[in-house]
Amino acid sequence: MTAVRPDSVIDLHTHSLCSDGREPPATVVREAARAGVDVMALTDHDVVTGWAEADAAGRELGVCVVPGVEVSCSWRGVSVHLLAYLPDPQDQALRGELEASRASRETRLLRMVDLLAADGYPVSAEEVLELAGPGATLGRPHIADVLVRNGVFPVRDRAFESVLAADGPYYVSHYAPSPVRATELVLAAGGVPVMAHPFASARGRVVPDGVVEEMADAGLAGLEVDHRDHGPHEREHAARLASRLGLLRTGSSDYHGSGKPNRLAENTTRPQVLEQIIAAGTGHRLLGAGLRPG
Ligand code: AMP
Ligand code: FE
Ligand code: FE
Ligand code: ZN
Repeated sequence: MTAVRPDSVIDLHTHSLCSDGREPPATVVREAARAGVDVMALTDHDVVTGWAEADAAGRELGVCVVPGVEVSCSWRGVSVHLLAYLPDPQDQALRGELEASRASRETRLLRMVDLLAADGYPVSAEEVLELAGPGATLGRPHIADVLVRNGVFPVRDRAFESVLAADGPYYVSHYAPSPVRATELVLAAGGVPVMAHPFASARGRVVPDGVVEEMADAGLAGLEVDHRDHGPHEREHAARLASRLGLLRTGSSDYHGSGKPNRLAENTTRPQVLEQIIAAGTGHRLLGAGLRPG
């Protein structure tokens, strides 16, 4: 088993410009180094295009970069996020599902922009696509950024509280696989599935415990218990459920650069947990700095 130094600072959830973060992958890694992070995972939404750049930066800066992806899922209209560590990026079934979500996110984004523009909000598809940049997994944060730039809101967060809210009149959903299907796909691709912020009710509706149980039956490896979007009760609930279902407990920042207040390493994962994730991941070899073979 790969041994991870016991004093390692480990942050397993970050985003770059490849999805809805605000910095290129190399900058995320540089910021992680500055924050004292030894091991970070790059987990852009539904895309793995940032891995190579992040890995190269990690080698230069002595940060071990765990390749990951945050898979969009949907359960009866409730948005669920599944972190996948070390999946085979060439796996056809997983790739197909990520591409289907990404394509649907584009159609959905254009619809949301149309609805907003029709009500007089200063936003256009051209501006949003230009701001997101080519190839980025599109999401509501990109619409928020244009509304911020055009002076409607001071920060992304305010846009989410009003016009971008999931229960608001401008919200349009997009295609995403079920959480159980996504868990199976990640496992089949040799990845390690960990459910992101499972009970973050401040973001919108969350799934009942039964869905997490079904995911555990399908091979879910862990729950992201320590996340800023969990209140104390939600953390406690997630921790109990993880221990009852025999799941690993992870913690991370969900860093999005300046797009969110989340700071790198504000929540972290224990080295023993990372060792188990690395041992379980067979889809992609981890070659980065900061780890030593056991
Ligand atoms: P979408 O995937 O398009 O439905 O948008 C969800 C994304 O928006 C999440 O991945 C978060 O990064 C981001 N997000 C959710 N709530 C907020 C918020 N209050 N402020 C800033 N970003 C948010
Ligand atoms: Fe995000
Ligand atoms: Fe998420
Ligand atoms: Zn995330």
